[in-house]
Amino acid sequence: MKKIKIPVEVSARHIHLSQKDLDKLFGKNYTLHKLKDLSQVGDFAAKEKVALVKTNTCVHGLRIVGPTRTESQIELSFTDAVHLGIDAPVVLSGKLENVKTFLEVKGPKGKTKVKVIVPERHLHCSPQEAKKYNLKNGQKVGVEIIGNRGLIFNNINVRIGADFKMACHLDTDEANACGLNKVCGVGMLIL
Ligand SMILES: [Zn+2]
Repeated sequence: MKKIKIPVEVSARHIHLSQKDLDKLFGKNYTLHKLKDLSQVGDFAAKEKVALVKTNTCVHGLRIVGPTRTESQIELSFTDAVHLGIDAPVVLSGKLENVKTFLEVKGPKGKTKVKVIVPERHLHCSPQEAKKYNLKNGQKVGVEIIGNRGLIFNNINVRIGADFKMACHLDTDEANACGLNKVCGVGMLIL
C-alpha cells in the first residue's frame, strides 16, 4: 500500500445558481461579483448571499459559488439538514436527476425553489495526475487524516477534469469530525 500526501479542503454550505434563478433572486441579467477564487480553476465565492427559508427555520447568509451553472443546487451538511428538518440525499455535485428535496431560496428581488443535496465527498484530479496514480473517473478511494482525531474516509469519488487539480473535498461535518483544521488541511491518499 502506498500513501500520497494531498491537500484536503472543506466546502462549507453554499449554493450554485442557474442564470434563470439568479435573475429571479437578484433581478434580470444579474452578474455575480467575485469575492475570491476557489481552488478549482474558474470557481469563485461570490459576494452575494441568499437565505434559505423553511417554515419556522431559516438559514441566512448562504454563500453563492459562481459561475452560474445549468441547474441550481444547494449543498448542505447533514447537520444543516437536521437543523432545517429535511432529508437531503448524498449525491455527487451536479447529479440531480433523482433529487426530490427542495428548499425555498430568498434573494433581494424575489424567491425560487432549489434542489438540496449533501455533496458526496470527492477527489478532484487532472488527467495527468490520474494517469500518474492510475486513478479512474468514478473510482472510490480512501483518504486518511492524521492526528489525534484522525480517521480514514472511504468512498471518496474520483473526479477527473482538465481544469481540476488534486484536492479532496469534504464537508464541514466530515472536517470537524477529524479535526482537519488541526492538521492544516492535509491528508494521505491511500493507493
Ligand atoms: Zn469539489
